[in-house]
Amino acid sequence: MDKVIITAAITGSRMMRDIAPYIPITPGEITQSAIECWEAGAAVVHIHVRDPETGLGSQDLDLFRQVVEPLREKTDLVICLTTSGIPGRNLPIDERLAPLTLKPELASFDAGSINLGSGVFSNPPEFLDEAARRMKEEGVKPEIEAFDLGMIMTALRMRDEGKLEDPLHFQFVLGTPSGAPATPKSFLHFYEHIPENATWSNIGIGWRQLHMAMMALIMGGHIRVGMEDNIYLRHGVMAKTNAELVERVVRICREYGREIATPDEARTILGLRKR
Ligand code: ZN
Repeated sequence: MDKVIITAAITGSRMMRDIAPYIPITPGEITQSAIECWEAGAAVVHIHVRDPETGLGSQDLDLFRQVVEPLREKTDLVICLTTSGIPGRNLPIDERLAPLTLKPELASFDAGSINLGSGVFSNPPEFLDEAARRMKEEGVKPEIEAFDLGMIMTALRMRDEGKLEDPLHFQFVLGTPSGAPATPKSFLHFYEHIPENATWSNIGIGWRQLHMAMMALIMGGHIRVGMEDNIYLRHGVMAKTNAELVERVVRICREYGREIATPDEARTILGLRKR
């Protein structure tokens, strides 16, 4: 079994301080949190940035730069930038894809539309085609986020059309209110539909974060944790830092007997270009 790649999803674009009092908001806080996760064993960081004034998610290139540049200087982390913008607000395509110009090694690729909160997280074919094209152009590997089975089928079709390239890398997003549930059965259904040479990682939303991490651990997949997906360490106890969530899953993996991938080992496993 491959070593396990831990991805830390630092902040997302939606959760505010009234619900998540410890969530990083400013570029400085996001950078610091990502460094702590790297020290704790994360190989990949999944980065959104927030408008420091409003606290809301933003696709502002300068804010991304304020996070990416210090991370490249101080760590060897694999950087995965979001292209989701603000789900429900559905920004113009160019704005969503702006972070690709920073040439991250990975970028999120949400392979279909879905209801999220009170709105629609819109990822129509026009967006997907353009995102795939630009990622290829910039040498960025798409991290295919699948919220339901149709998104996996869409990615496979785009692969057959030559828009996405093997080996594909999937991030299963299990447990969103309108998507596939975070259950072992639901996860297995996803797992059975991806190509044998694909790599994959699991997200469990909320208290199911650890459940889906355990499925990935025993099935040879990779794990994403972090406050974008879950803010609790255990029932009634909030995580005060993202690193605490990373530390917990690293402990469990080591105890189980699966080693933790370094960023460079993650690059080899995912077939990324070297730094
Ligand atoms: Zn995200």
